[in-house]
Amino acid sequence: MKAIVKYQTGDGFIGLRDVPEPEPGEGEVKIAVQAAGICGSDLHIWHGDIEIPVKPPVTLGHEFAGVVTALGPGVTGLQVGQRVTAENSHSVCGGCEYCMTGDYNLCEERLATGYAYDGAFAPYCVVPAKRVHVLPDTVDFLTGALSDPSACVYRAVCEKGAVGPGDTVLILGVGPMGLFSTQYAKLSGGKVILAGTAADAARLEIGRELGADCTVNVTQPDAVDNVKRFAGRSGIDVVLECSGAPDAARLGLQLIKKRGRFVLVGIYGRPFELDFDQILYKELVVKGMFSHKYKAWEKAISLAAQGLIKAKPLITDILPLSEWEKGFRRFAERKAIKVIFEPQRA
Ligand SMILES: [Zn+2]
Ligand SMILES: [Zn+2]
Repeated sequence: MKAIVKYQTGDGFIGLRDVPEPEPGEGEVKIAVQAAGICGSDLHIWHGDIEIPVKPPVTLGHEFAGVVTALGPGVTGLQVGQRVTAENSHSVCGGCEYCMTGDYNLCEERLATGYAYDGAFAPYCVVPAKRVHVLPDTVDFLTGALSDPSACVYRAVCEKGAVGPGDTVLILGVGPMGLFSTQYAKLSGGKVILAGTAADAARLEIGRELGADCTVNVTQPDAVDNVKRFAGRSGIDVVLECSGAPDAARLGLQLIKKRGRFVLVGIYGRPFELDFDQILYKELVVKGMFSHKYKAWEKAISLAAQGLIKAKPLITDILPLSEWEKGFRRFAERKAIKVIFEPQRA
């Protein structure tokens, strides 16, 4: 079968290659992939600047949905024909402090589907049964494929940022994470300011449709004043930094109120300078959000099933695997918001 493979470490080295069709081993499930999204981290894998272990040659793709086509020995509770999605924490040690306390996303030995194990940019993939989540009938494959970023954002907004009714939330970045964050923050009762750049006019408009109360182009000279005016006297309680841009992190640090909660969602891919003293002077709570866990997936899928969190407005491109390069480029150049591959299409 044809798959999008990272075949060598470094910048580049991705191509459509022939790989053997996988078969499920003990405790594994084989899935016919119906939809698989390009994640921001796939771009970092493309450029070879990600800390998550990648083991070429490996089929990429970790945000997906499909149909169970075979069960390996010992799998219970799942059936052939079920519509599913899956977490990408493929293998963890099971015995470290993090695994023992349910934080398997932080296991030192965590190896992920689409990074170290063959992923979903292929007609078939195999994943551990315990990472599989069944999709309700009301969640289609496109929406189901974006359970992964939605679950990440559930953790960022509802757990780490603990956004509650009346909180003013500044969301920096209008990619998929920013647009999911907008929805989760609104659902949590927040007042949402969504910030992007001059190139983000269309995305900011989608953000407004998804619930943002105010949108800001940070490249305008009056942007900071506008944000402050909109936030009012109570200020910005929570910053969700979803852009992965150093300037956005600096702006968030500048605008957040004292004792605010600053949550990191975007990946920068390199060190940069930041006024760390602001954390002290403002007594800020700074939290990182890495990956996801079981509960966040169940929440994300349930909210999608109820129509309360929408994935489809984020999907701009649906392509066959053969057009992988176009998909990666359009995503990298920010012409696409979310690109979905349909691997069953020729
Ligand atoms: Zn991802
Ligand atoms: Zn572990």
